[in-house]
Amino acid sequence: MGAAKSRVLHRSLRETPPKAVGGDGVWLIAEDGKRVLDASGGAAVSCLGHQHPRVLEALSRQASKLAYAHTGFFSSEPAEALAEKIVGDEPGGLAYAYFVSGGSEAIEAGIKLARQYFIESGQPQRQRFIARRQSYHGNTLGALSAGGNAWRREPYAPLLSQAFSHVTPAFAYREKRDSESETDFVARLAAELEAEFQRLGPDTVAAFIAEPVVGATAGCAPAPEGYFRAVRDICNRHGALLILDEVMCGMGRTGTRHAWEQEGIAPDIQAIAKGLGGGYQPIGAMLASDRIIDTIRQGSGSFQHGHTYLAHPLACAAALEVQRVIDDENLLDRVKDLGGQLERRLTERFGNHRHVGDIRGRGLFQAIELVADRASREPFDPALKLNARIKAAAFERGLACYPAGGTADGRRGDHVLLAPPYISTSDDIDMIVDRLGQAVDAAL
Ligand code: PLP
Repeated sequence: MGAAKSRVLHRSLRETPPKAVGGDGVWLIAEDGKRVLDASGGAAVSCLGHQHPRVLEALSRQASKLAYAHTGFFSSEPAEALAEKIVGDEPGGLAYAYFVSGGSEAIEAGIKLARQYFIESGQPQRQRFIARRQSYHGNTLGALSAGGNAWRREPYAPLLSQAFSHVTPAFAYREKRDSESETDFVARLAAELEAEFQRLGPDTVAAFIAEPVVGATAGCAPAPEGYFRAVRDICNRHGALLILDEVMCGMGRTGTRHAWEQEGIAPDIQAIAKGLGGGYQPIGAMLASDRIIDTIRQGSGSFQHGHTYLAHPLACAAALEVQRVIDDENLLDRVKDLGGQLERRLTERFGNHRHVGDIRGRGLFQAIELVADRASREPFDPALKLNARIKAAAFERGLACYPAGGTADGRRGDHVLLAPPYISTSDDIDMIVDRLGQAVDAAL
């Protein structure tokens, strides 16, 4: 008899992945006992690694008191405490947290809140959203409409909303012209965004949506200095909202709780998820400013949206403890230190590699981009599936990293994204780069 057929609809319909049966800090343990170093925290999720005793204890405490109460009837202690923790001392004016089950739901909620805000503030004509190419905002239809990942959008194009248009991303390695300085590049992107507002009619635009550091679709690409200040100015000038998607790059991943703190601006609405609960429970949140919520409070009095598992008490309890551990153990400082080490080691190992065109990122959110030719930045042919080969070669060497494929239009090469847990040690960082180096050389 062959192995029993899996009834789980896996990502691949041809292969069943090995079962993970345990976790131990930065390590994942497979059913055959193999230990795999979790160098990307899944998809930048497991910021505290696996089986953190404080989070397990918080989960068990909450489960023994109350696992679930519908938000139509009750709030809960962990939801109130988590909101206080995240937006209670918010420097940028985000004052409310709406807890959902993941990143896509957080983005959907942000889009709908922006729309409702403009209806209730007497500007119902604001129904357009501008986002960027090479972006990912989630897989549900609203979030997919916002996203600019052509491959993910294509099969569903007839179902996607026409309310979204896309401009050039602030992705210097692929979009900045050689003749341009960084300042010129920012000015060109700002002019393009301004032109898009004018094309649509500035008073029809509800919001601009962007990731401060682009995750999976570009590979840890931060914006050049001044870009987000220019974007914020344009939104302000036209009375549109700024929605920032920090689902991947937020909650400490880049060394500050929010990546936007490093840009000298603040959003009106923000989506967070992954590092919020660190994978201990599925949880995301939409954060919103006072101004937006006050307008709706004085208008209809309720946000016209909702899910069954809003502010799930167990999810909120897990996220609250994750955030407390990050604060109590000064893990943001650690992210900055280890992030510096990771960047240095990647530069030592790949800086002169003939097939590594770029090394970029912030904090413990770093990527290398692989190219067929460094001088021309020509990506490898996507048909080679280099990303899948690197993933397999790394896994063989006991390393789980997050490679993504290049695009057929050459706007992105294959890249490998690293997002190790904040509790990693200096030795773990060295081991990640060492194993990744071996995997890349074996796959090429
Ligand atoms: N936004 C960004 C920037 C993401 O990276 C992701 C997921 O990778 C999402 C939104 C969607 O989050 P989720 O997969 O939790 O729905």
